[in-house]
Amino acid sequence: MRIPDRIKIGCNEFTVEWRDELDAAGNIGLSSVSLNKIYMARRTKDSVGGVVVEMPEPVLVDTFLHEVLHSLSCLYGLKLKERQIEGLAGGLMQVIRDNALDFR
Ligand SMILES: [Zn+2]
Repeated sequence: MRIPDRIKIGCNEFTVEWRDELDAAGNIGLSSVSLNKIYMARRTKDSVGGVVVEMPEPVLVDTFLHEVLHSLSCLYGLKLKERQIEGLAGGLMQVIRDNALDFR
């Protein structure tokens, strides 16, 4: 999947910004509803030895969906917990991919 440069979430248009690494805390995605931005990391440090590695495509897609869900939760007052967002992002990615769904 190609991650878009822009995505409309609710009535807001978000810009997707790529960084080599997001932060020292190991975050690989962040979203800001107030700035209408989703930040994505191209690379992360391997948990073993701290080697910098390219983010695998499935991780990028899961992270992107994860940040979209955070934004939806905030915009619509859903108050989803982190674990709920993790499950929904991974579950949606699996259903969409395994069934080759295209909603256009
Ligand atoms: Zn999260």
